[in-house]
Amino acid sequence: MNKNEAVNLLNKKGYKTTSRRKDILTYFSKADGYRTAKDLNQYMEEIHEGISFDTVYRNLNLYDELGILETTELNGEKHFRMKCTHDHHHHFICNTCGKTKKIPVCPMDDVGNTLNNYQIDGHKFEIYGLCPRCVPA
Ligand SMILES: [Zn+2]
Ligand SMILES: [Zn+2]
Ligand SMILES: [Zn+2]
Repeated sequence: MNKNEAVNLLNKKGYKTTSRRKDILTYFSKADGYRTAKDLNQYMEEIHEGISFDTVYRNLNLYDELGILETTELNGEKHFRMKCTHDHHHHFICNTCGKTKKIPVCPMDDVGNTLNNYQIDGHKFEIYGLCPRCVPA
């Protein structure tokens, strides 16, 4: 999902696209990885004086519900990133900076017949570690 697609989705669902909501989208479209609510709040406080954490968090949850963002739990804290919607893939996630790298394979391809007669509703696969910039020299 990119910023324009997200704005279109908000309009379609009848949500106002306020400058605050757009700025949140800008933040995540530039992020290239997972960020916490606190990271976003810090950014928002710089450009919208007096904005409350509550407002920021409510919008995060709205974006999560609408499928604009995807979430994961890293170091015991919820993290958010722009949702990848164009093709099915998985991510390597850096534990330090939240950077994600696309993994163009899906382990479900190898599951094959092992779940015959089961209804599969979804799956999750993530690899965690340190990206090249965060690996200690
Ligand atoms: Zn992706
Ligand atoms: Zn990193
Ligand atoms: Zn998959």
